[in-house]
Amino acid sequence: PINAAKHIWYNGKLVPWEKATVHVLAHALHYGSTVFEGERAYPTPNGPVIFRLKDHTRRLFDSAKIYSIEIPYTPDQISAACKEIINANGLTQGAYLRPFAFRSYGEIGVAPKISPPIDTVVAAFEWGSYLGSEGLENGVDVMVSSWQRLAPNTIPALGKAAGNYLSSQLISMEAKRLGFAEGIGLGVDGTVSEGAGENLFVIRDGVIYTPGLANSILQGITRDSIITLARAHGFEVREQPLPREFLYLADEIFMTGTAAEITPVRSVDKITVGAGKRGPITEALQTAFFGLFTGKTADKWGWLELCEDG
Ligand code: PMP
Repeated sequence: PINAAKHIWYNGKLVPWEKATVHVLAHALHYGSTVFEGERAYPTPNGPVIFRLKDHTRRLFDSAKIYSIEIPYTPDQISAACKEIINANGLTQGAYLRPFAFRSYGEIGVAPKISPPIDTVVAAFEWGSYLGSEGLENGVDVMVSSWQRLAPNTIPALGKAAGNYLSSQLISMEAKRLGFAEGIGLGVDGTVSEGAGENLFVIRDGVIYTPGLANSILQGITRDSIITLARAHGFEVREQPLPREFLYLADEIFMTGTAAEITPVRSVDKITVGAGKRGPITEALQTAFFGLFTGKTADKWGWLELCEDG
């Protein structure tokens, strides 16, 4: 399903897409020890940009720090590699980027005496909207998963590591098996956490609510962007724990993520959300967000990083 591009940035070199391979005994393949990012490049009137590149690079290094993965490049080098791969692949019309670092092929074992080497990769390729372009407009049907999110002090939710996505796979696969577009995980305290690969926002009486740092969420960069844009537009945003039933009482719900962008939710557990279609605040925030890339929304925050110099 992914559209092969020409090159992949692999340990500092551009290698042909099909040559970017790894040994089957690589540590990460067995123990989940990859830290990664998902980023998007968008076309703009000034040329392609990577959205919040520095923030994504920072989160990659944060995830690496949690797992003592020493990336043998500086954050600036990784950010430069992201731009380089967009340019090398000629992805001027938008792309998804996947930078990652992982414990590679060395001594076998969970924590061997001699640490396996760290391999560092940046891939970029064309990728449409994660939950479908139709979903962006009409909203998607989701369910509360029977699987809970990671408990605090088990697998850290703030780290974007491959192993975390076993939880996401269970949540998302269950939802799809049962005919839903996505699943929402509750935290171990029973309050709302997030989607399998998206943060969640709930609107009632004009106030925008979203779970916070302590609710086993990934600190989404789209989430942060939406909170910032919403406040700039005069909306009240509250980061707080949300009980499950609040989802059923919402006027509007939407999910955010680099891949999902801003996707409205029209039902939860087959219970209609609000009017059962994209709500006005969701649409206003989509307009503000996508307006960043046409120039209609001023980039007051320095979020757009041009891929080409000059
Ligand atoms: N939660 C999870 C579990 C995710 O995988 C993602 C996607 N990276 C998000 C939230 C959204 O984060 P972002 O907006 O930074 O893509």
